[in-house]
Amino acid sequence: MHFSVMILGAGSAKPVANKYPSAQLLTYDNECFLIDCGEGTQYRLLEHKIRPGRLRGVFISHLHGDHYFGLIGLLSSLNLGGRTEEFFLVGPRGLDEIITLHFKYSQTPLHFPIIYTITDTESSYQVFENQNFTVTTIPLDHRIPCAGYLFREKPQKRKLIKEKLLDDMPHEYLRKLKNGEDVVDEAGNVLFKCLEFTTPAPLPRSYAYCSDTRYNESIIEVIQGVDLLYHEATFRDELEQQAFERYHATAKQAGIIAAKSHVKKLLIGHFSSRYKEFSGFLEDAQTVFQATEIAEEGKVFAIEAQPTSII
Ligand SMILES: [Zn+2]
Ligand SMILES: [Zn+2]
Repeated sequence: MHFSVMILGAGSAKPVANKYPSAQLLTYDNECFLIDCGEGTQYRLLEHKIRPGRLRGVFISHLHGDHYFGLIGLLSSLNLGGRTEEFFLVGPRGLDEIITLHFKYSQTPLHFPIIYTITDTESSYQVFENQNFTVTTIPLDHRIPCAGYLFREKPQKRKLIKEKLLDDMPHEYLRKLKNGEDVVDEAGNVLFKCLEFTTPAPLPRSYAYCSDTRYNESIIEVIQGVDLLYHEATFRDELEQQAFERYHATAKQAGIIAAKSHVKKLLIGHFSSRYKEFSGFLEDAQTVFQATEIAEEGKVFAIEAQPTSII
């Protein structure tokens, strides 16, 4: 199954020409979700030829404008486009009120239901689930209530070794083998051994999104070992004190969190508008965590399956 994240925007609060505020497109198989929805996100979707109608929902981290000012425009466009399918909206308290008030005073009835889940940003718990993955909150340390999101694929079944299967094997046998069971006859004799006819299921993949936050070691437990971590890096190392005062993190701190969490790969973004060039952020993070990349706008990061054990 395809599992990827496209960076639509990785800027911070102050507008900068040709940089966009926070928004990411998470794709799993054919389903698309937005993570944060900064101003103009719907235009980024159009630029990348992604029909907004494909979206199943949006996860909003917090109510600073650079993370959600694009939402009302997007919802209005979905309504104009004739959407009737339900839309999932996950975010902190107040988001439902803001949207309800906006459409009340613009006298715009929405023709599709919004399924709200209001996040409690103080603890980590599951806020969404579908047939493929679960989403859990990651409490962050920001000036206002803020939660990141951990997307974790559900465990998959073992893979059948096609060349070894017999032509007339009943469906029930295949189901048992995929579930990790041996096929036995009524007397208890093993007819087909699971380990001979299957290979291990791929390990569930995971993606953690953490923006905005101070350096916060309490998230380490939640994001331990994820395949891909996005962590904000608003400032470079020399402004660590400023980062603390403004409830943000430095690139090096993002690297420390990635290293302590044993993640496979780190993406950094949400750079302050004071910087015109970003290679220094990469250098700062890589002093502590080598597998770091800049969350470059327009780039797609596939979340790859890790090799499984032998059995
Ligand atoms: Zn922000
Ligand atoms: Zn913020």
